Amino acid sequence: MTGTSRGRPARGRRLPRLATVVFIAAVSGTALVFQRPPRALPTDSPPEVFAAGRALRHVQAIAQDPHPLGSAAEEPVRAYILAELKALGLEPEIQQPRDARPPGPEARSDPSRRDVRNILARRRGSGPPSKKAVLLSAHYDSVTRGPGAGDDASGVAAILETLRALQAGPPLERDLIVLINEGEEAGLLGADVFAEDHPWAKDVGVVLNLDARGNAGPSYMFETSDGNGWLIEQLALALPHPMATSLTMAVYRLLPNDTDLTIYKRHGMAGLNFAFVEGLSYYHSPEDIPANLDPRTLQHQGENLLAMTRHLGRLDLDDVRRGDVVYTSLLQQLVVIYPQTWVLPLMGGAVLAYVGVMMLGIARGRIRRSEVVAGFGIFLLAMLAAVLAVGGLWSVLSDRLYRMGVIVFRPDLGHGSGMLVSRFDIALLTGFAVLAVGIVVVIFVGSGRRWSLEGLGLGVLGWWLAVTVAASVWLPGASYAFVWPLLAILAGQAVAFTVTQGGIIALLASWLGAVPLLVIHLMILPGIFHGLNLRMAGPLMIPVVLVAAALVPLASQVLNRR
Ligand SMILES: [Zn+2]
Repeated sequence: MTGTSRGRPARGRRLPRLATVVFIAAVSGTALVFQRPPRALPTDSPPEVFAAGRALRHVQAIAQDPHPLGSAAEEPVRAYILAELKALGLEPEIQQPRDARPPGPEARSDPSRRDVRNILARRRGSGPPSKKAVLLSAHYDSVTRGPGAGDDASGVAAILETLRALQAGPPLERDLIVLINEGEEAGLLGADVFAEDHPWAKDVGVVLNLDARGNAGPSYMFETSDGNGWLIEQLALALPHPMATSLTMAVYRLLPNDTDLTIYKRHGMAGLNFAFVEGLSYYHSPEDIPANLDPRTLQHQGENLLAMTRHLGRLDLDDVRRGDVVYTSLLQQLVVIYPQTWVLPLMGGAVLAYVGVMMLGIARGRIRRSEVVAGFGIFLLAMLAAVLAVGGLWSVLSDRLYRMGVIVFRPDLGHGSGMLVSRFDIALLTGFAVLAVGIVVVIFVGSGRRWSLEGLGLGVLGWWLAVTVAASVWLPGASYAFVWPLLAILAGQAVAFTVTQGGIIALLASWLGAVPLLVIHLMILPGIFHGLNLRMAGPLMIPVVLVAAALVPLASQVLNRR
């Protein structure tokens, strides 16, 4: 045992502890701030940019009343969109299903595929007409319960404002096909009618689909077609504020949601899917009104569509499929991309790094094998304690909050099984997360009295290694979220093992080692809190505990007593 700093008086440790807390708070705060949607631009913005102020006018016109498929309220909405497209110099047409009969009175109460009236328009590009086109897709029908400002008047408005901005800029080479479809809410009907029946469907090179499951938050590019390597590269080049990770495909499959991209993909089209997911309590509700739609969200959604259309519109889209990639945006500033073929070698590197760092710690006399084993077990204990505590608290609270009206049961959500929603969902989940982190802190600080935290920290990283291996094998798109933080923390710990524990070099190395963890996971956690929401309150604490416990190696440099 070197134990150089173990005898140091408590006063000398106070400054590094405080500095470490400030550092963690600063990096976390930066990560959280840099995922907010951009500032909404006003109506008098330059003509070639996307301005939420201008797009909001369309949302207000479309989302006045509920206008589900087959309802009379669809007619003024359709007329408005047709007039706006004509005002943009386009020649819109209505597409009806090939086997359409005039909708009888029964169709009003039972909306069906034959009621679908898709609005279609084509803007010719300057290039050869035989080249594949860009398809812009959103749906103009709402659910019966609400007027659908977020879902999906925002998407229609984003397309209209994008078309206007494109006219003010340089011409595109590729054709643009505009599909403002009907019947998405009744079962993705409009997209199906287009893909099955329309001759333009075979001209589509890339689909850009816009939808929503809420009324606020950033616009995520959350789903792609298979073979997305090239498309993600273009996204990285095009988007000014990218929010995209290959992890969302995995999470999205857990949700009982589908969008029109499901249909387009089934018909072999390549594409990108954009949506925002904050504000679940507004989704498909009477309160999904224009005044409740966050203009910054509309700005982000529209800015993504315009930038992507402008970029793809000058590229050859005849063959866009390449190998799948692992990717994540960082702080809305850049997108890190690498081929999926790197995933297993990286996993192998992580295994070697873990074993190497553990052997270094043992050789330097800083940790014992028994402490690593203890850390492995204590993590499991902390995880169980946090999940059970939060699960128990939630079952007690949910009943009470339901009676108080803070939580409401929405039978229409969750594909028939219903869901509990609340306007305070994220506040509640954040409270639960604070409790879970508190449990982790208490358990590990207490265990640190008996075992060295450096040893316990390597035990925790054993779990990170296990999750890295599992993700690399079964969920390669999610593997980046585990392998890079693990490698960085291991690198910090390797440096710490070669210098004085708790010294300035060890501390700096541990700080730097924790940065990828905080930046990557403070983008993922808010996303999955909004996406999975209250019904997953207990299980959502698993990633919270995993992230909190990964800070044990850093804590071992400032709480280094046995
Ligand atoms: Zn929708």
